[in-house]
Amino acid sequence: MRVRLTLWYVSLLAGVLVVFAGFLHGSLDRRLRAEIDRSLQDQVARVLPPPEPLPDLPRDPPPRRFAVGLRRPPAVAGIATAVYEADGETVIFGDAWEDHPEMLAARLGLVGGGQDLRTITMSDGVTWRVLTVPLFRADGHVATVQAGRSEESRQTALRELLVLLIIGIPTTLLLAIAIGVFMASRALNPIVRISQTAAQIGALDLSRRLGMAERHDEVGLLAHTFDAMLDRLEAAFQRQRQFTADASHELRTPLALLISRADVALEHPRDLEAYRAALEAIRGDTRRMSQLLNDLLTLARADSGQVALHREPLDLSDLATAVVLSMSGLAATRRVRLAVEAVPGVVVDADQTRLTQLLLNLVDNGLKFTPPGGTVTVSVRRQNECARLEVMDTGVGIGNEHLHRIFERFYRVDPARSRADGGTGLGLSICRWIVEAHGGTISVVSTPSHGATFSVRLPLQAKTGSHISPGVRGRVAAS
Ligand code: ADP
Repeated sequence: MRVRLTLWYVSLLAGVLVVFAGFLHGSLDRRLRAEIDRSLQDQVARVLPPPEPLPDLPRDPPPRRFAVGLRRPPAVAGIATAVYEADGETVIFGDAWEDHPEMLAARLGLVGGGQDLRTITMSDGVTWRVLTVPLFRADGHVATVQAGRSEESRQTALRELLVLLIIGIPTTLLLAIAIGVFMASRALNPIVRISQTAAQIGALDLSRRLGMAERHDEVGLLAHTFDAMLDRLEAAFQRQRQFTADASHELRTPLALLISRADVALEHPRDLEAYRAALEAIRGDTRRMSQLLNDLLTLARADSGQVALHREPLDLSDLATAVVLSMSGLAATRRVRLAVEAVPGVVVDADQTRLTQLLLNLVDNGLKFTPPGGTVTVSVRRQNECARLEVMDTGVGIGNEHLHRIFERFYRVDPARSRADGGTGLGLSICRWIVEAHGGTISVVSTPSHGATFSVRLPLQAKTGSHISPGVRGRVAAS
């Protein structure tokens, strides 16, 4: 990048300098030539004085024409002048300078009132600018004047400028390369530093940061973005580690229990009843472990994005009614009233299995944390172009200090009680994943001792009411 940047910049500069040099050379060339031409015109004008009335000359014999008003012009350095008869060949007066054949041709070639200006290379190789002008008076073409000026000084000036440019441009470019490399290095060094630091950061040490907070430019922004990404990565790794540690811990307890139950059962020979009781206890433990493993697997798959949602139009009210019906047995056992208040026709685009799991988890929690005599109400309605599902209970509620954490994995308000109830501490994490995967949000409000309300908002299906999955209606009917 350093080399490329410098090359781009230097070639651009070289282009600009060459164009500028061409312009400079061209304009100096034009100016010097115009200056020479002007001096020649001035000189010629001096030969013929301003018009004045012709003197009354005797007609016979006719006077020589050249005698009438022609002046020898003052000598001007570098300019040679000669005045010829109208025939262009007879010299009246003039400086001694080489009469090149082209000069004669110019004098003879004059037609009418035109003048001739040309560049002639003399025999010594020096170029001259030569102006040939016919001089007229009232009595006709009286003479031809020719003025010339060597272009040597103009060529010398142009040559000197060229030498200056030929030395100056490469020197400037060399300087530009040096400055360009220096500037590019200065600009790119922080990026090299960033990549070196990045190379040292591994999964085992995510704590390093670039820390370029003092820079308020593009590089600072890059470093800041990079650091922010590391923050997120570190937090994610930390969560993952915590999750693995918690999962191992959760599995260790029932496993230890399982082994000790088996040990106790096998310690002495026992009767059939005792073996049966031990096996039943072991079955309970393994079921809980199996549930925990299922939950873990769901979350692990969700994390790695492996869970595909089979979305279809789903009537949320029907689904809520079906889940409430299927849980009514459990509610009756716990002597908790389970009610549903569902507005029909609230249709969402969702995965039926996952939404059923969400409802089961929320209603199960409600039943678990509501003492006998309480009520768990599931309601479904539309609100602000969204489907709103609420599971409200009149149970123990959740303290304010726990509210913001209960969707975390393995977080329980009362771990002992949750475990005793068969809870894995993953139910609400799974709920949150399901809702977010459907583009919705989940929240909770609670007053301790007065119950908790879990609210889920899901986007409504674009064309409400059409193509409702027959499977859902079938399930409702079966329930
Ligand atoms: P668990 O399997 O332990 O129920 P969850 O993730 O479903 O795990 O819930 C996490 C914790 O949130 C529970 O342990 C409980 O303390 C609290 N909680 C969940 N739902 C309710 C509720 N309806 N009323 C009171 N507390 C609840």
